[in-house]
Amino acid sequence: MTAEFHIKPQATANTSTSSTELTCRKCKSPLSRIKRSAFAKFFLFGLPFKKYMCYKCSRKTYRWAAK
Ligand SMILES: [Zn+2]
Repeated sequence: MTAEFHIKPQATANTSTSSTELTCRKCKSPLSRIKRSAFAKFFLFGLPFKKYMCYKCSRKTYRWAAK
């Protein structure tokens, strides 16, 4: 029987460094802030979600923007 452990060192070690710079999970390039669509605005109204886009791989992502 094999046990597989997925250790994520950056989850605990990367808290004090600049967290404002958001990067794409896929290609690690910086994300650009884009406007939320009317659809997202409706469903995420009042929630601190912000929409970001990676222009390198055309991925859109929502990030929780709470302080
Ligand atoms: Zn990307």
